[in-house]
Amino acid sequence: MPRQRIEDYQLKAINATLSHVWNNNEYYRSKLEGAGFTEPKIESLEQLASVPLLKKDVIRGDKQKLLCVDPKEIGQVHLTSGTSGKPIYTAYTLADQYVYDLLPKYLEIFKETDADVAAIALPYEFALPGLGFQRLFQFAFGTAVLSLGKGGYMAPVDKSLELMKEYQATVLATTPSYAALLVEESEKYGIKIGEDIRLKKILLTGEGCSSTFRDRLEKWWGCEVSFFYGSTECGVVGVECSKHKGYHVMEGHVKVEIIDTVSEKPLPYGQTGEIIVTTLLREGMPMVRYRTGDIGYLQKARCVCGITMDVLHLRGRMENMLRLNGEDYSPFLLEHFLMEIPDVGMWYHFKLNQGVLKIEAEPFRTKLSDEQLAEKIRKHMADRLSIDCQVEIRHDIPRTFGKATRVFN
Ligand SMILES: [Zn+2]
Repeated sequence: MPRQRIEDYQLKAINATLSHVWNNNEYYRSKLEGAGFTEPKIESLEQLASVPLLKKDVIRGDKQKLLCVDPKEIGQVHLTSGTSGKPIYTAYTLADQYVYDLLPKYLEIFKETDADVAAIALPYEFALPGLGFQRLFQFAFGTAVLSLGKGGYMAPVDKSLELMKEYQATVLATTPSYAALLVEESEKYGIKIGEDIRLKKILLTGEGCSSTFRDRLEKWWGCEVSFFYGSTECGVVGVECSKHKGYHVMEGHVKVEIIDTVSEKPLPYGQTGEIIVTTLLREGMPMVRYRTGDIGYLQKARCVCGITMDVLHLRGRMENMLRLNGEDYSPFLLEHFLMEIPDVGMWYHFKLNQGVLKIEAEPFRTKLSDEQLAEKIRKHMADRLSIDCQVEIRHDIPRTFGKATRVFN
């Protein structure tokens, strides 16, 4: 679509959403009235900045506050994992699940068809990712689905790999750490990646990672690996095209803004700040100017793939930023430099102690002694970042079926 048509649609969809929340939700209405609105309407996309922001702590642990439909209209409830506090609840109506989630289809980004078999190794219990991807592949593309989950009772790792082999999975949707775990474990169970399992594509979501971590996964799995950025609260937000130059914002589903975290003023293209998401046309629990707690910047759509949707560059979660020598560093940037060292494995920790960075890393198919490897990491990080860090080589960094915790602030 030409840019102007996308923006016309977004303005209409935002106004429809504002009108829906104004008419059906006390919290949203009182916030809008408090900000001086006498009707639920903005005249331009720039005016969206006058709509109050929605903070996470307002809705944490509350099932009702944002509900915009009669409870009997709810088709499904999803919860966040609650790793950083009480969970956030989102209620989807059937229309949210089967119309909103599936349309528009973004055919240039998702090439999957009924000839594909998608293995979904994402949490299914109450979380959005497993069920969301299941619906997307099954109902939008007619793709067969293997609902693996993440190492649960019915599909532990060995059985998951076995099923992917038996049913000749062509697509895998999972987290970066679980993609690493599956490929590591495949060797233990004698399953040959590239022969027994031949994937065309992996979609990564749930955790961010650096492009070097991705490169390693691409090598191990022998296929393209793309990022998918979304959340339980907002659903899909951005997806990478085959050029891998950032996330195309799913502008049919969401309006994304970037704000300065202190002044809360919108930032122009190219400037880094907090990512704000407004869901478009959702019924059950629309998110209006939701503060995601994620950091990134927007770029005007100029991608060689031809898609005209803006591009989002993600820098990680605010709470995971590492403050070193008076500057905030994205853990993805540090991971990027760490993963440049081929002797380092894919499991590591960054620990910040009184401003000093300690890296715990595992050796990977290396002839170096632990001492030599530690020295190599120290030197490499100092060269790349001008930062002195402590390094401990460990052989026992725990694997996880949940979200991988790599940063300890
Ligand atoms: Zn593109």
